[in-house]
Amino acid sequence: MEDCIFCKIARGEIPSAKVYEDDEILVFKDINPLTKIHLLCIPKEHFKTVAELNEQRTLLLGSALKKIGALAPLWGLEEGYRLVINQGEAAGQSVPHLHIHILGGEPLRWEK
Ligand code: AMP
Repeated sequence: MEDCIFCKIARGEIPSAKVYEDDEILVFKDINPLTKIHLLCIPKEHFKTVAELNEQRTLLLGSALKKIGALAPLWGLEEGYRLVINQGEAAGQSVPHLHIHILGGEPLRWEK
């Protein structure tokens, strides 16, 4: 996608504070962190939501979660962290390229 900001980051056209990259995914620091540690994991392939998962993207997402699980302790998240995927504008998705928020580095409240 020409105009997608996360595609531009994946292509290296916009700088980012990368913490991990391979052929399939990129993990970088969120520019406007909501928690002490706030990372974003994106697939390099452009798609917006889990409604667009096909077999290959399903494998990609599972693989991304496995990598996050393996690498999180190296990112300072050994005490625990929260994964969030906002789906659609009404849920707060501002960038239409699927991304997993990785939030932690401090105690996170979870209550109604
Ligand atoms: P969402 O609101 O779920 O779509 O999340 C988009 C996230 O992308 C927000 O937390 C933004 O702070 C973050 N963001 C937007 N542009 C950049 C950028 N250039 N580098 C890093 N994070 C960004």
